Order: sequence, then C-alpha cells, then structure tokens
Amino acid sequence: MSIQGTERQIVHTPLQPTSIARIALTITLMITLGFSGLLTMTFASRISNEPTQHALTDPNFSSTSRLGSTSHLGSQPTPPPLLLPSPSPTGPLPPALPQAIAILQAQNRLLYNGNTSLPEIALTFDDGPNPYYTPQILTILQQYNVKATFFCIGRLVADYPALVKQEYTAGHTIGNHSWSHPNLALLTPASIQFQLSRASDAIETAIGVRPAFFRPPYGRMSVQELTQVYYDGLITVVWNDEGEDWARPGVNAIILRILGLARNGAIILMHDGGGDRSQTVAALPFIINGLRQRGFHFVTIQQMLMDLQHHTNVPGRDNTLPDVRREARCDIPAGGRRNGKRYSWVISLPECES
Ligand SMILES: [Zn+2]
Repeated sequence: MSIQGTERQIVHTPLQPTSIARIALTITLMITLGFSGLLTMTFASRISNEPTQHALTDPNFSSTSRLGSTSHLGSQPTPPPLLLPSPSPTGPLPPALPQAIAILQAQNRLLYNGNTSLPEIALTFDDGPNPYYTPQILTILQQYNVKATFFCIGRLVADYPALVKQEYTAGHTIGNHSWSHPNLALLTPASIQFQLSRASDAIETAIGVRPAFFRPPYGRMSVQELTQVYYDGLITVVWNDEGEDWARPGVNAIILRILGLARNGAIILMHDGGGDRSQTVAALPFIINGLRQRGFHFVTIQQMLMDLQHHTNVPGRDNTLPDVRREARCDIPAGGRRNGKRYSWVISLPECES
C-alpha cells in the first residue's frame, strides 16, 4: 500500500535527472527493505504463533508431551514420541452422548479397543492399588513377562504410593480412575474436575509423571464428563472384553468369558482392588496362557494407542471368534482362524487340576 503510493509520487513529480536517479535508488532500497521486512514479519509471526496457538488451544499438545514423558518405562526401549491426531472440536462436544463419543473415537481420544488388524491385547486392572492383591498380580505379570495397565483410584494411590511406583517401574502404564470412584456422569463440572485433577496429582506424586489415560468408574459416561476429561488432556479408555470378575462368578467362568470375547485389539477389564480378587489372581495365568496359545501378545494401553495411530486397519481381516463353549470340562479343545493362520488350543481350567 505505501509502496504504490511512493511510486505514484515519483511519476508525477518533475525533478532533475541526478535527483531522479538518487531518489530512484532510495526508493529501490526502501522497496527492497520494505519487502524483506514484510517477509521477515510474516515468517516471524508464523514461527512464533503456531506453537503458541497449539499449546494454548490444543488439548492434545499437553497430552502429547505427557505421553512422551511417560515413555521411559523401566528397561523398556524408548518408544517413539506419540503424535496424536490434531483436535477438533475446539468448541464444546455435541450435546448427545453417542455423537460426542463418535467424535472422540475418531480422534483416538476415546478407546473401546486397539488396532483390530493386530493380534495384540491390553490387560487392564481397575480399582487398585490394593496391598494384598496388587502385589500378587504384579508377580504373575512379571513371571509371564506381560506388560499391563493399571487404572488406579487416587485416594488409594495416596495411601499406597509405593505400589503404584512398583507398577510403573515394572513397565506397566498407570491410568486415572478418579479420586474416590463415584459415578462421574452424575456430578457437576467442578466435582468432575476435582475427581480428575486430584487423582492425577496423587499419581504424579507417586511416579513423577501425570497420567495420560482415564477410565470412567462403572464405565459411566456423560458429555459433561467427557468434555472435562478431554480438556484435562486425558484419553478415555473403556473396554470390549471382561470376565465380570467383580461379581466373583468363579475362576472358570472368568477365564472362559475372557477367552471367548478375546479378539484383535481387545481391551480386557479386570480388577486388582475393590473387594476379594482371589478369583482374578487365580484366573490370570490361565488367561495369559490361553491368549498366547491363540497367537495374541500383550501390550499396554500406551502401546496400543501408538499401534492404533501408526498402522492402518486391514479391510476384510479374518477376525473370526473361536468357538469356546462353557462346558464343565477340565480341558476344552478349541480352535479358530485369525489373521489367515489356523490356531488350535486347549483351555485348561484350574478347578480341574489336582
Ligand atoms: Zn472401578
């Protein structure tokens, strides 16, 4: 704008040739400097604005850095930094819960399962830490070299921080399961915020990093709750396989139900706290062996999220569920096809041993 004005002034003002040459030189310099100044300003504003806007408006920005900071797990190789998909909505989630869930799922900010093209499964344990059952579960996981995920209740983390530290240093992922396990879907935004942040604070005090994952107590969700979780930088993790171990249906029933529902990318819900978990402890080795025999391997929720982001699903995959019958037999032969391979296995039930 100012450049055009200057050019117009040169054309219409009568001057001596030497003066014209001097002014032309000055104008050329001004144009050059003006342009480079403009370019510099444009570049500078791009460089300075983009990360700043990201940090201020992008809830993923903080969660990415949190996930990165949780990646140094024990002697595990450092996984590549997580690149979460760019967010939208930047505004409120839609008022209807199914739509809100769909939007969060599309952004990998709410998981019911992992990558369904990979034979990987995440074992998750809720409601701990528990001074009696959590150490037993940790011992089994160590014996079988399995990494899992623990969704901890904040006030129990404050009571037993050493147990959570033990989980974390063993390479397991630690998630937020609220401060005192209420149904968050019924609470006010302020109370939801309190439940989330106080639990994350307790976990950070115990292990040195804030959790990146959240599991809603009772699996109950509301738009209000998911909005709070989203803007807190947490990823909601639900499940698609469980043995209903909380109801203590018997060791066999837990094993059969979990093996029957298992599939690629399954997230399995179990409990290391909240009551008598001796059935869960007894079932765990059989669940691990049963799933391994069928070609699955175990990952943490953090690894599952990374595999969800870095691998595309294969259309037309063979995800046939095996035929596992709930028969009162000691050894149940079973088989099925998965990812083009044929597997056969025998489910051995612990109550038949001896
Ligand atoms: Zn729970």
